[in-house]
Order: sequence, then C-alpha cells, then structure tokens
Amino acid sequence: MLGERSVKDAVNKAIDSMLMIEREDNRIHVDEVARCLRRSYYDRRERSIPAKERLILMKRSMRINSSQSKEHHLEDLVLIASADTIVDDAVIRFEVVDRLPSTPEPASLIALNASLWIFNKEEGALVYLTRDGDSIQFSLTRDKRLFDETIRRAKVLSMLLKENRVPVFEPSEQCMNCPYYEKCYIQHKRYENPTLERIFGLKRE
Ligand code: SF4
Repeated sequence: MLGERSVKDAVNKAIDSMLMIEREDNRIHVDEVARCLRRSYYDRRERSIPAKERLILMKRSMRINSSQSKEHHLEDLVLIASADTIVDDAVIRFEVVDRLPSTPEPASLIALNASLWIFNKEEGALVYLTRDGDSIQFSLTRDKRLFDETIRRAKVLSMLLKENRVPVFEPSEQCMNCPYYEKCYIQHKRYENPTLERIFGLKRE
C-alpha cells in the first residue's frame, strides 16, 4: 500500500508527465497563442510554475488528451485545438467564471475561432458559467484572417522557444493577474516609463 508521501509523489509525477505533453517546441496549443506569448513562454520554461498557472496548464493538458482535441499539421509546426463539446456541427467552449462578462474575452474568442478551422466547423459558441448556475453565451462565425494571425503567432512562439528567446511583453488587463507580472514590470522599471509606473502603481527606488 502506498504511504501518503508516495501518493503525493505519484500524483506530482503524473502532473509533470501531463505537462510534458507541451514541452515539444514545435507543438503549440491554440490557447498558448491566444494570450500573451511571453506568458506562454514562461509557462514552459519556468522551473517552478505557480500553482494557479499549473492548474490552467493541467486543464489544457486534459483538453489535449481528450477525444475532442485535434491537430493541424503545418510544415514544421503542429497546432493543437480542443473543443469542450461539439453539438449540431458547432464547437462549444465553456469557461467557468466568478462573474458573467458583458463581452467575451478576446483570448477565448481567438482560441475558439482556431478550433472552428481545425475541426472544420463554421460556427461555435462560447459559454460562460458561474458556480451559482448563471450563464451567458456568445456565438461566433469563423474568421480566416484571425486564424492566419493565430498561425503566425504559433510560428513565432515555436521559433522563440527553439532559440530560448523570451517574447516581447504584451501589456494588457491580463497582466494584473499574471504570475509573471514582476518579471515584466519590475524589470522594466529601469526604463523609467512614467506611463507604465502610473498605470501599474510601480514605485521608483
Ligand atoms: S505580465 Fe503581462 S506581458 Fe508579462 S507575461 Fe504576464 S501577461 Fe505577458
């Protein structure tokens, strides 16, 4: 029988092996390029991934392992998309949130749009759910230009991973909840950018 410590070790090993799925630099998930490339780069390269980020990665890995994942093969790149479910020829993506948004989050739309092309479906829906059971849904018709841009970003991320080069930072509202906030903004203090310091409340030393 496994002791408590052995069970913990076994669970950690299983998690690590799930995360390893995305360690190949030429295999990129659409979720990674729908958001900040720098954040996705750090997710793969950081030795100690913050707990919250680890959960997000696990969720993505579980999506990749599910039967609803599909690969899009390009010359030297594999772009992976996932669908939470496909109903009546439409790809549906679910997001659990604390509060229902009035507009869809761009990163989720970009990832859903890529899924529509990779699963070869015309339409999709993005459904936000709260733990209280409220929901709101947004429909999406696929857009080719947006998919081309997603592929371009995937190529850039793959190239930078291979060359061990950190992508440029992409300031957005997501930065406030990003586990790598200090890496981006504290380091940038030396540039003495008064606008960023005012927006993000950085103090000069
Ligand atoms: S803080 Fe912002 S720019 Fe930096 S990695 Fe996070 S999301 Fe990207």
